Amino acid sequence: MRLYSKLSSLVHTSQPLNPKIHLCSSTFLSSSSTTATQNPVPHIVTKCIALLQFWASSISKLRQIHAFSIRHGVPLNNPDMGKHLIFTIVSFSAPMSYAYHVFAVLHDPNVFTWNTMIRGYAESDDPSPALHFYRKMSVSCVDPDTHTYPFLLKAVAKSLNVREGEAIHSITVRKGFESLVFVQNGLLHMYAVCGDTESAHKVFESMVERDIVAWNSVINGFALNGRPSEALTLFREMNMEGLEPDGFTVVSLLSACAELGALELGRRVHVFLLKVGLTQNMHVNNSLLDFYAKCGSIREAKQVFGEMRERNVVSFTSLIVGLAVNGFGEEALEFFKEMEEQRVKPSEITFVGVLYACSHCGMLNEGFNYFRRMKDEYGIMPRIEHYGCMVDLLSRAGLVKQAYEYIQNMPMQPNSVIWRTLLGACTIHGHLGLGEIARSHLLKLEPKHSGDYVLLSNIYAAERRWSDVQTVRRSMLEDGVRKTPGYSMVELGNRVYEFTMGDRSHPQSKDVYALLEKITELLKLEGYVPHTANVLADIEEEEKEQALSYHSEKVAIAFMILNTPPGTPIRVTKNLRVCADCHMAIKLISKVYDREIVIRDRSRFHHFRDGSCSCKDYW
Ligand code: ZN
Ligand code: ZN
Repeated sequence: MRLYSKLSSLVHTSQPLNPKIHLCSSTFLSSSSTTATQNPVPHIVTKCIALLQFWASSISKLRQIHAFSIRHGVPLNNPDMGKHLIFTIVSFSAPMSYAYHVFAVLHDPNVFTWNTMIRGYAESDDPSPALHFYRKMSVSCVDPDTHTYPFLLKAVAKSLNVREGEAIHSITVRKGFESLVFVQNGLLHMYAVCGDTESAHKVFESMVERDIVAWNSVINGFALNGRPSEALTLFREMNMEGLEPDGFTVVSLLSACAELGALELGRRVHVFLLKVGLTQNMHVNNSLLDFYAKCGSIREAKQVFGEMRERNVVSFTSLIVGLAVNGFGEEALEFFKEMEEQRVKPSEITFVGVLYACSHCGMLNEGFNYFRRMKDEYGIMPRIEHYGCMVDLLSRAGLVKQAYEYIQNMPMQPNSVIWRTLLGACTIHGHLGLGEIARSHLLKLEPKHSGDYVLLSNIYAAERRWSDVQTVRRSMLEDGVRKTPGYSMVELGNRVYEFTMGDRSHPQSKDVYALLEKITELLKLEGYVPHTANVLADIEEEEKEQALSYHSEKVAIAFMILNTPPGTPIRVTKNLRVCADCHMAIKLISKVYDREIVIRDRSRFHHFRDGSCSCKDYW
């Protein structure tokens, strides 16, 4: 009866009405041919539209109203009815096939209806028909209006089709829509999502009016596309313009800070979160936890984890992976036990963390045990990443031959990561024959990866096959492979500073190099010999250090020693693996200068303290 009372209240407010219809619910529920023959269509259409607007609270009710309209003789091609039907279908995210059936028979749909179809596709799982509809619209001589483009751009962004996006951009310019805020937001979002941060930023710069949506799009665009410094610079500008960030801004910022290793900046974001009360939000907390773990501040990561009221598999996984890569394997496994006790089901990624922990702690049997339990107890089919961890586990334990056998018995094709792990193990444990096999596989999979040339030339160097070293280096030059230049980042005050090898661009560089020379002298007193002899343990990713041309992490550390009070911990983020020479030197620096030094390199964290490193020289 609730249905009827709603219906009748509606009926009493809408006029003019066909008396036969507003009488009782039975008219509504059963077909009435008499009403149809008395040409009631305009009234029924009005009524049906009202029903759609006020009564349709679900897809099934929507279908009832649709059926009702048909029974009462509303023609299927009535554009007014069609327009409201499609709008309601799209608002409920009902299947677009339904909207299409309604649309296909409509007589002369207007621009609103076309726009609604485009919006529906843009918001659906398959946005591609949106573009098709846009083209059909032009053919049907319906002029797109200002509302068409934001939906269309949304669809393009979703299908990551930046070429189409550019074409639409030039159309909006021609039509003079380019200066409208919501068109600009659409363009900005599209470019940012498609990874064209330059164009996104250009659109942003041209905007006269920038709302929080625009700021979030451009900040997120930079954060997601490997340009974290720009993301943070924009955040500061946003603050200066007096705009308050929201949850979306915060998650983007934390991921940018995590990538840069900008601990201080991230901490300030944390303070902001506490101030505005966003710390109740589990997603925000998860990204905070992930940020601290990626910056190597495990203490704070654990603190965030401890204070969370609600934890899910993502929270546990972030902490377990964070502990594992920071060299706290045992603790990672303890948290995994806690996770099991609390009956939180681990994911595939949790097990990557668990196996990584076993591998980096040299826990061979435990690793195999967890691998078995993952399949048997949790029904997780091992992926290539898990097999990669197992190869790493065997390789690090020095069981190079077993690692190779393991690769041969894998149920899937090994990828380049796995062959590179084996190649690395062959270099460290001096196994030339297997090293060449691994390299030949790598050549087939990734012919231009510079790291592999470097690895192989090290194996040859270790065996003193100097002519082979020359051959590899020559083919490297001929193939146009260049080493990735190494760089290190540190955070000081409100800024992130980046250094390259032998960097002298900084105003303080004179003092920095004077200090580096002094450090070398001090280290010599501590028994430090520049590392050149032991190529076996040295998978170099960078050129060897020349005199007075130090690797970027040393420059960065000297810069921080100069600019921070004694005892302040130093954190460095480096894009390549730390070389053996720097590793040894930094161990001694941590002792001589009594500083805790944390380096996040390409593969793991090193926590240096009092002359030793958390990786136990095993990385
Ligand atoms: Zn180095
Ligand atoms: Zn280390």
